[in-house]
Amino acid sequence: MSVDASELLDYDEVIATYEPVLGLEVHVELSTKTKMFCGCANSFGNEPNTQVCPVCLGLPGSLPVLNQVAVESAIRIGLALNCEIAPWGRFARKNYFYPDQPKNYQISQYDEPIAINGYLEVPLDDGTTWRVEIERAHMEEDTGKLTHLGSDTGRISGATTSLADYNRSGVPLIEIVTKPVEGTGERAPEIARAYVTALRDLLRALDVSDVRMDQGSMRCDSNVSLKPIGQAEFGTRTETKNVNSLKSVEVAVRYEMRRQAAVLQSGGAIVQETRHFHEDGYTSPGRSKETAQDYRYFPEPDLEPVAPTAEYVERLRQ
Ligand code: ADP
Ligand code: MG
Ligand code: ZN
Repeated sequence: MSVDASELLDYDEVIATYEPVLGLEVHVELSTKTKMFCGCANSFGNEPNTQVCPVCLGLPGSLPVLNQVAVESAIRIGLALNCEIAPWGRFARKNYFYPDQPKNYQISQYDEPIAINGYLEVPLDDGTTWRVEIERAHMEEDTGKLTHLGSDTGRISGATTSLADYNRSGVPLIEIVTKPVEGTGERAPEIARAYVTALRDLLRALDVSDVRMDQGSMRCDSNVSLKPIGQAEFGTRTETKNVNSLKSVEVAVRYEMRRQAAVLQSGGAIVQETRHFHEDGYTSPGRSKETAQDYRYFPEPDLEPVAPTAEYVERLRQ
């Protein structure tokens, strides 16, 4: 499958009629020595299932212990993004079924994230900057990695065999979510790319992650919607998952703008869904988006709240 140009509107026409709204969710794996909740090594590229223990395999009766360096990194990232650091917050269980996470929930943060309400000044090619507002940065754990064999696409659909590697299970992750980015007009694809670039550079300077998009230690989900110019209310968004290079962030945003505009122009409606990004520059439908209710979040009972004192946060800021 490839891009069917007849299903895309010319970019100039998109811009003449619609205003894009963006939302960028970036997951970054921290380069701590050990995992988020156990002492297993956090390193990439080893023999499958050699860096695992009862905790990161999610075996019954195992108990998580929080990695202090991961919390420090999270706070430093929050401060660098000009966020408020929460003086108290609990982890939450995000429940779902998937074989990359044998305990069938991910330990994450939900309504009590460690950092909220920040911004990043993003340098653009023309020498100006664009301020992207940050909604939140929260801590969570990565899942294991599944490899599906026997299908054309490498996806589970049509696969004959699936392999599970839990070395990545429990690797510390920070998810950084922007507020809706409005008013970019035709510069939306450029600004999306420039934001992820600036964020990568910041995280690299903080020395908290190796930020390798090609190895998955930095991953971007890009949300895009369109609304008729002048309309206040946002349109329905799609979320293109795991866009794995800076260039691809730009390509994915531009493609979704052109695709959504073509759907809207022909009288159709945008479905809220996740979409897959393909290297040759197009997106295809994923799953219809679950809502927060579907995850049955509840406070994680096996971990104490994270309660950094003002002095501690100030020391990290220094
Ligand atoms: P989800 O749980 O679906 O991933 P999040 O709140 O984590 O939702 O992320 C959604 C992202 O999309 C945020 O960056 C948010 O600002 C942005 N967003 C929300 N509504 C819209 C919209 N209508 N169009 C574009 N972006 C949106
Ligand atoms: Mg999200
Ligand atoms: Zn472990």
